[in-house]
Amino acid sequence: TEVATMMGVSTTEIISACMSLGLMVTMNQRLDAETLSIVAEEFGYEVDFVTADIEESIVEVKDAPEDLEPRAPIVTVMGHVDHGKTSLLDYIRKENVIAGESGGITQHIGAYGVTLENGESIAFLDTPGHEAFTAMRARGAQVTDIAIIVVAADDDIMPQTKEAISHAQAAGVPIVFAINKIDKSTANPDKIKEGLAQMNLLVEDWGGKIQSHDISAKTGLGVKELLEKVLLEAEILELKANPNKLATGTVVEAFLDKGKGYVSTVLVQSGTLKIGDYVLAGTTSGKIKAMQDERGNLVTKVGPSRPISILGLDGASQAGDKFYVLEDEREAKQIASRRSQLQREQSVRAQRHITLDEIGRRIALGEFKELNIILKGDVDGSVEALTDSFQKLSTDEIQVNIIHKAVGPITESDVLLASASDAVIIGFNVRPMGNAKAIAEKEEIDIRMYSIIYAAINDLKDAMEGMLSPVM
Ligand code: GDP
Repeated sequence: TEVATMMGVSTTEIISACMSLGLMVTMNQRLDAETLSIVAEEFGYEVDFVTADIEESIVEVKDAPEDLEPRAPIVTVMGHVDHGKTSLLDYIRKENVIAGESGGITQHIGAYGVTLENGESIAFLDTPGHEAFTAMRARGAQVTDIAIIVVAADDDIMPQTKEAISHAQAAGVPIVFAINKIDKSTANPDKIKEGLAQMNLLVEDWGGKIQSHDISAKTGLGVKELLEKVLLEAEILELKANPNKLATGTVVEAFLDKGKGYVSTVLVQSGTLKIGDYVLAGTTSGKIKAMQDERGNLVTKVGPSRPISILGLDGASQAGDKFYVLEDEREAKQIASRRSQLQREQSVRAQRHITLDEIGRRIALGEFKELNIILKGDVDGSVEALTDSFQKLSTDEIQVNIIHKAVGPITESDVLLASASDAVIIGFNVRPMGNAKAIAEKEEIDIRMYSIIYAAINDLKDAMEGMLSPVM
């Protein structure tokens, strides 16, 4: 019946289609992927619903509240270049050693966990920056619980600082600010906090709710307190997972090692991952042969919020791919190969994103409630003027959200954010830079460029009223 609804045909039609294929089925019977694909084909629906069905067959069961246990937060460090992201991650890596365990973190596996003196743990994604964060999100992976945004106190709130803030906010991930380099004589943390306040981001010292701490990633000053604030933020989030089931999580990185074969680092997000488990990750699958943590220890099982490097997958999955443990090795293999077949057939069909032309139609269907816009312009004045005018276009039916605005060209990072947040990019007297255009085409992101303010406003207005005439 579900299939019928999805395809917009009647259940009887499906049943008779099955019968004409020599299959006896009943109304509420679950069709397997194979049958479904054939039936869907009969109605001209080939691939999309097959994919949906594959994903459906591995859908996670909702956990009962009593099965949930607290889990450690997963943290990404973001910020402007040279403000100290790598230094902070390095300092934490070197200085925090699990109580009673000798030796620090020796392996680079793309993520690592630390346990603080009070026994609480934090997992860090070891690829700093909002590009990696948003690239994962564009692939549908929401891994990060909390973002640490590093701002150098001897500098200003810079373009990438603002980007990082927008990216974290668009993902709904709480921010803890690390005001860095306070060991320097030129450091002026108050100036940074004032700058944040001007952006409506009030940190605690300024009477706000956003946590922030002054640190030096070089000397380690304040880092411990910063991490305590991260844990405080985590407490508010009440992060929980059920450790007593088959594991699921996300791939953080994967590569081919000449000696060992395919090595993948995954982050377990729920359940417990064990040696011998059958794993499906993107278009790859396999039985886990060995697992190694960031300290080089071989382990036999790992629970939620733990990064772990695994051996045994038959290919390199991609960062951001979800992984699942399945009961049956054959099923894992089948789904993986079906997925790669689909991917070949569709030549990695990009997800369809919103375009201005389509907005009116989607609003009319009543399925579209929020229009996300990324706004880039040549000068602050025009960006602000457009922001104001766009926001005023919000109606009862549809809310216009400017999820990121900045002065400067349209960058790759803007396109990724648009992809992850299903946004339209509007450029005022600016153009796409570097790879941005190519990626936008691949991801089917609508970029509109204007040089007259009222033309931009009118287009958006028309689009929202469903009256925009298609361009070119
Ligand atoms: P990233 O680009 O954000 O990863 O920045 P890095 O961690 O590579 O740091 C950029 C530069 O700033 C390096 O030369 C660091 O040694 C220096 N740096 C980072 N943190 C501090 C700090 O707390 N104090 C001082 N004095 N220098 C720092």
